[in-house]
This record gives sequence, C-alpha cells and structure tokens, in this order.
Amino acid sequence: MSNRELPATVDIAIVGAGFSGLGMAIRLRQAGRSDFVVLEKGDAVGGTWRDNSYPGAACDIPSHLYSFSFAPNPEWTRKYSPQAEIYEYLRRCVARFGIGEHIFYGQQVTGARWDEGAGRWTVDTEHGSISARVLVWASGPLSQAKKPDLPGLGAFEGPVFHSAEWDHGVSLAGRRVAVVGTGASAIQIVPAIAGEVAHLSVFQRTPPWIIPRKDKKFGGLQRWLFTHVPATAKLERALTYLRLEFIFGPALFGRNARTLATIRERATEHLTSAVTDPALVEVLTPDYDPGCKRLLVSDDYYPALVRDNVELVPNAVASCTAGGVVDTEGVERPVDALVLATGFEVTDPAFAGIIVGRGGRSLADEWSKGMHAYLGTAVEGFPNLFLMVGPNAVLGHNSVIYMIESQLNYVLDALRFMDRPGIGSVEVRTRVEEAFREEVEADFAHSVWTEGGCGSWYLDRFGHNTTLWPTYTYKFRGRTRRFHPGDYTVASPARSEEPVGATAR
Ligand code: NAP
Repeated sequence: MSNRELPATVDIAIVGAGFSGLGMAIRLRQAGRSDFVVLEKGDAVGGTWRDNSYPGAACDIPSHLYSFSFAPNPEWTRKYSPQAEIYEYLRRCVARFGIGEHIFYGQQVTGARWDEGAGRWTVDTEHGSISARVLVWASGPLSQAKKPDLPGLGAFEGPVFHSAEWDHGVSLAGRRVAVVGTGASAIQIVPAIAGEVAHLSVFQRTPPWIIPRKDKKFGGLQRWLFTHVPATAKLERALTYLRLEFIFGPALFGRNARTLATIRERATEHLTSAVTDPALVEVLTPDYDPGCKRLLVSDDYYPALVRDNVELVPNAVASCTAGGVVDTEGVERPVDALVLATGFEVTDPAFAGIIVGRGGRSLADEWSKGMHAYLGTAVEGFPNLFLMVGPNAVLGHNSVIYMIESQLNYVLDALRFMDRPGIGSVEVRTRVEEAFREEVEADFAHSVWTEGGCGSWYLDRFGHNTTLWPTYTYKFRGRTRRFHPGDYTVASPARSEEPVGATAR
C-alpha cells in the first residue's frame, strides 16, 4: 500500500530506497535540495539489505568500508556485519539525515517515459504518476531473483523459496532440505541452517573459490576508539580499501600469476584444513582462475559440509518431483523444502523494458545486444536519466558503496550544471558512449573474467562482461569527479533545435 499521495511534479525522482537511492537522497539534502522524491516499491528502506534476510546473511566486504563515508558507523559490532545491522544502519541514516519525508512507500514503478515536448520524465507507479525533470534509477543490480526453470518445480509439494525471498514463516528444523547453488548466498545459508535441519543436500553445479573470512568481533575498547578517535575508523576503512584494491586488483584485472597462485594456495589450504576426504576435496576444487566467478569468503562453509547430516551433491539440479529433487545424474533425493540460492537476473533486467526514452525507444531495445552506459550512469537516447550501479559499475573485488559515492558526486555535479539558466536536458553523446564501451572492452581483454576459464553472472548471453567495472576503483572515482558538459548534448528547456553550450550530436 502507498503511504501517501504523490506530488504531481518534482524536480528529481529517485527510484529505489536501497543504498544508492538513499545515498542520492542524502546528498541532495546536503546540497540544499528538497524538491525530490524517492519511490520505493516496498514498505521499508534497505533494498538488498531488507530483502536478503536469509539465515547467515552478512556482507562479505568489511563494514567500515561497506558504509557511507559521510555516515561512518563506529558501532559496527563485527568486521563483517550481519544483515540486520546493515539494515538498521540504513534505517538510521534516514532519520539521521532527515530524508524520511521524501520517501514514498508502496510505489512500484510501472513505467517511465521521456516526454520530449516537455523535456521531462513521466514516471508511473501503481498508485499514480509524477512528472520529473531528472530521473535517478536506483533499483539495484541484484534485485531481481533468478529462479531456475526446473521441470516439475510447480509440482513440488514442500515450501520453495529463493534466498532473497526467505520465508521466515517456514521452519526448517528437523526437515530434509536442499540448497540449490554454491554462490555467495548459499555458502552463508548452508552453515546457518546445517545445525537445525535433519538432512541437507547442497547441489553444486560449479565449485567456488573460497578464502578464509577471518571475521572478528569489535570489542568495547575498539568501538570506543572508533567513536571517540574517528581517525581510527577512517584508518580501518582506508586499510581495507587498499588491501582489496591492490592485493586483489592485479590478480583480477591482469591475471597476475603470482597473486593468483597465492590465492589458490590460501584457498586450497583453507579447503583441506576442513575437508580431508580426497574425493570431496577434488569436487570442491575449481578448475578456473580465482575471481573469475566472485571470490568468496567464509570461515564456516567447509566445516558445515563435513557434518554427518550434510551431503554435497556435485551436480546441478535437473528437475523436481512431488517429494524430491533429481540431479543431472538422474538421482532423486527426497526433500521436504527447497532453497533456491540461484542468484539474480543482472544482464537482462526487467526494468529496462519499462524505461522509454527519446523516440519511444525502450532501454530494453537499446540493450538488446547487451547493456551499456557511459560511466555506468548515462545512456544515449535517455536524457536526464542517471542509472545508479548501472552497466559496468558493479564490483568483483571491493566495496560497491565506493562506486555509488563516485556516482553520487557525478550526478550532483551534473545537477549543478543543469541549474544554469537555459538548460533543459543533458544526453550523453553517441561517440562518447561508444569510446567508453571500447575502452571497457579493452580493459577486460586480459582479465580473469575474460580469460579465467569460467562462466558467471558477470557475463551476458553474448559473453560480454556488461556488469563489472574492469579496473581499479580509484580510476572510476577520478572519472566521475566532474560532469563534463562536452560529453553531453545539452538542450534548452523549450527543446529548441539549437543546443545550449554544445554543438549538435
Ligand atoms: P550466484 O553467485 O549467481 O550463485 C548462484 C548459484 O546457483 C551458482 O552456484 C550457480 O551455479 C547455481 N545454480 C544455478 N542453477 C542451478 C541448478 N539448476 N543446479 C545447481 N546449481 C545451480 O548468486 P548468489 O549466491 O545469490 O550471489 C550473487 C551475488 O550477490 C554475489 O556474487 C555477490 O555479488 C552478491 N552477494 C553478496 C553477499 C555478501 O556480501 N555476503 C551475499 C550474497 C550475495 P554456477 O556457478 O554453475 O552458475
């Protein structure tokens, strides 16, 4: 249900109240802007951290870095905070920065059209329409659950739920459970439920590389220091950033042989310290470069796999029956409940179908041969639209909050430019976007994602990596520090033929 009526017009409409939508709202308020709304489909803020409440959910990036630099939280209780703490942090940010009045809940956006005559976006929700000069799309890259199209799934008689749609009304205690998948979500779910279920079958299609997480509690003294000597929290954040950027970066971007070998060694040691059965070690050992699929961190996944009531099935699930699941070897296992930890639809997002830009062309049309956006943010044909964590702005090695804050800087600077008299719309130029795409492709050429020997959700159906930023994040920060009007075609509010301050495309 919607909490209140939408205004008819607004300067800026933000879609989504997760990390990036809230970050945008906070930065707008800090910049003295108040003519904006946040349209949230759910009844609470938090996005990913509201939805992914499965047992064991926690962030795999340390919390002092996985939080806003402008809203440090000295009270993180652990190095890797659990979901509830991150969710609470985001809710506190709403109160702390006074943005609650801008958030409209229960407003699932059903369409967004660029009105060329008016030079504005018309955004339709389930409960009304709103006209906005600027549209910031912040629905999150990992918000659309991907469920496998398994024959017989509809006939399965027990509860079935996706990791991002956990049904907390269902008790798994004493039941036979199957977890499908062994990605970042599954390796947190498995140890969290292994102790309570009667039997757990973990279906692994491809083994992941897993290194120790080395999670730790922050004691009272440490939290006191983070609170009263803020430089210590800043140092913690900076050291984490540098470690992730410069230890993992070279391995991922350029397949640095030494670093890859070190990661393999550490991961193998980690595996064999918990699993002694050589046959199990073999099926748990990946045959591709670490990082090609997301490199996972865990302290308790392997120990959970060797429990008496847990079985690793080294096959994909092929189909379901009324009372079980059948693997690709044709073996059926009786199961009472099924957990689909099968990831998200990322490279072909549904939202692209509902965003219609200049000339009635949808973003899905524009992306029919693969997603693309200049600096992960702007797409030619879609004036005044800014995508948050858009194509090639996701990360495989560092905190996505750093990317989000870079984009916030960029959008804020774009808005400052757009405040100048006589400016109605900005639209990235074709050649600028094309040059950027070529650059990204070249950066990927010798990376683990291209040459690492695996398939992953980072790649689209054409085999292109349209999700990740291909190189160091500080380079993204540098590129997004300033909005360069020369990269854009700038039109006056009346949509005159003569662009202001720029030549025609
Ligand atoms: P994911 O990485 O896409 O993993 C999906 C898993 O399902 C893969 O292991 C996949 O196997 C498997 N799968 C799909 N269909 C299957 C079938 N029929 N039978 C057996 N296995 C099947 O999804 P995710 O684990 O939800 O993670 C997605 C991303 O979300 C992560 O990469 C990360 O960026 C983010 N995430 C972060 C955290 C965190 O911070 N802690 C936690 C969760 C997620 P294949 O590998 O063979 O495709």
